[in-house]
Amino acid sequence: MDRKTIQVGSFEVNCSILSWGDEAWIVDPGAEADRIAALLEKAKLKPEAIILTHGHFDHIGAVPGLQAKWPNLAVYMSPEDEKVLTHPLNSFPPDYLPIGKPNNIRDVRTLAGRHGLEPIFTPGHTPGGMCYYFKDEKVLLSGDTLFAGSVGRTDLPGGDMATLMDSIKTLKRLPDDTDVIPGHGMFTDIGHEKDTNPFLI
Ligand SMILES: [Zn+2]
Repeated sequence: MDRKTIQVGSFEVNCSILSWGDEAWIVDPGAEADRIAALLEKAKLKPEAIILTHGHFDHIGAVPGLQAKWPNLAVYMSPEDEKVLTHPLNSFPPDYLPIGKPNNIRDVRTLAGRHGLEPIFTPGHTPGGMCYYFKDEKVLLSGDTLFAGSVGRTDLPGGDMATLMDSIKTLKRLPDDTDVIPGHGMFTDIGHEKDTNPFLI
C-alpha cells in the first residue's frame, strides 16, 4: 500500500490517498476537491472508493466535487452516520455548505478484507464513527475518535463520552507498533498513545 496524507480545508482534516497499483481509495476528502483530483491525476491513480470515518462536514466537503468528476465513485461509510451527513447543523458556512445526501452510499463493512482492511466500529464522536485498520501494514486511520494526545469531542449532536471511551478500549487492543493517522493533527502510534495519552492510560 502506498499512502499520502494532505491537510485540506480550514479545519485541516487529514485526507489520505491510499493506493495499490493504480487503484486509489480516498479517505475523508474534507475539502479542496480540485487539489485532491489533481494529486490523483498526477500520480495516474484511478479513484475506486471514497471512505469516510464519519459524517461531519469537515470530513466530507469534497465528496460532491469528486463525484462530479468521477460519477461512479461510491461513498463507503457506516450507515449509522448517514443521518449526521444531512443533519441541519452539519455545515459551517461559508467554507462548508451542506452537501446533501451523496449518490451511491454503501456500507463500508462490505470492504472488509479488501487490501487487508478491518473496519472497526468506533461510535462516540458520532453514532456511526469508524476507524480503518490495515492489518498487513499496521496502519490505523482513526478519524476523530483518537488523536495524538487526545480523543474526539463528544459535545456535538449524537456524541457520547461513555461510548467513545468504549471505542478507545477497542483501539488499545491493536499492536503497539500500529501507525495512527488521526482525522486532524499529528500522526502517532498506539504504543505512544497508551504511554502518554491521558484518555488511554
Ligand atoms: Zn468530526
